[in-house]
Amino acid sequence: MNRLKKIDEILAGCRSVVILGHVHPDGDCVGSCLGLYNYIQKVAPQAETDVYLEPFQKEFAFLKGADQVRHEFDTEKTCELCIVCDASDRERLGKGAEIFDRAGRTVSIDHHKTNTGFAGQTFLRAEISSTCELLYEMMEETQMDREIAACLYTGMIHDTGVFKYQSATARTMEIAGKLMAEGIPFTDIIDRTFYQKNYRQSKAMGQALLNSRLYAKGRLICSVLTAEEVERLQAGSMDMEGIVEQLRLVEDVEVSAFLYEKVPGEFKASMRSREYVDVSETAAFFGGGGHARAAGCTLRGSKEEVTGRLLERLEKECLQDGRA
Ligand code: AMP
Ligand code: MN
Ligand code: MN
Repeated sequence: MNRLKKIDEILAGCRSVVILGHVHPDGDCVGSCLGLYNYIQKVAPQAETDVYLEPFQKEFAFLKGADQVRHEFDTEKTCELCIVCDASDRERLGKGAEIFDRAGRTVSIDHHKTNTGFAGQTFLRAEISSTCELLYEMMEETQMDREIAACLYTGMIHDTGVFKYQSATARTMEIAGKLMAEGIPFTDIIDRTFYQKNYRQSKAMGQALLNSRLYAKGRLICSVLTAEEVERLQAGSMDMEGIVEQLRLVEDVEVSAFLYEKVPGEFKASMRSREYVDVSETAAFFGGGGHARAAGCTLRGSKEEVTGRLLERLEKECLQDGRA
């Protein structure tokens, strides 16, 4: 495990930096990439810094620097230093992998216990609830400002379910307090980026809840949206956020699984657990990754095949707690 360094030290005279996140960027990914971008602009203005990310929800557009993010991955781009936030392996970089491969130096800042050590230098803390929280520890407190704080706070609330997951610690709350002290519009950030749903998202949630079924004596719940249903709902991958968390709220459920068919025959699976099942193991088994209580992977085959494969493992895991 690498001793945590300050970002300032990692930059050390560097003149060109590229910041990358993971495919299908979530709040922690966008927040950490933009928080880091704004910090570098401040502490190393001489460095030419670019952020490359796949398109993300427009609710994150208020964060400073969001309008500077490049969504077209420049395959010719070269840089001295590439810093990757919140991504556990090279595959998760999507098209960014080409830029990563050409960088002089690579650094991964992450909190996924499934991180493969794919970068030259890895700053991994699996016990920390979000990459944004980890990034805070790597910044000089004196450089903190309202804009950087808003980015980090956004990531923290997304990866902790607004501070309610097991991963949130006293230190998480302490840092959140310091970020609040910078004068961020925290109520707005929470409402607009976390709880607010548009009409499509609300309909997708409704359909997914209707499709859900219980397994393993009610300890496992699973719902699938087929490509046909997704099309009928006119929903995209950005409209599926929050469904798997909602499923987990059903009484007595230990594990929730939500799958949607991105293209025919390819399903994105998200899993959440409450108490004793480590869903990252199942995700890693199917080539994905994540954390003990939140993980994901991609599965290929027909709806029956992929749910069959996934549920077989999850059912066993759910029934393995010794309870009758
Ligand atoms: P999701 O269910 O997609 O919201 O993801 C839950 C957690 O698992 C997040 O921390 C993701 O970064 C991680 N994750 C999701 N899909 C994958 C994947 N295919 N490979 C590695 N990690 C993943
Ligand atoms: Mn993420
Ligand atoms: Mn994260």
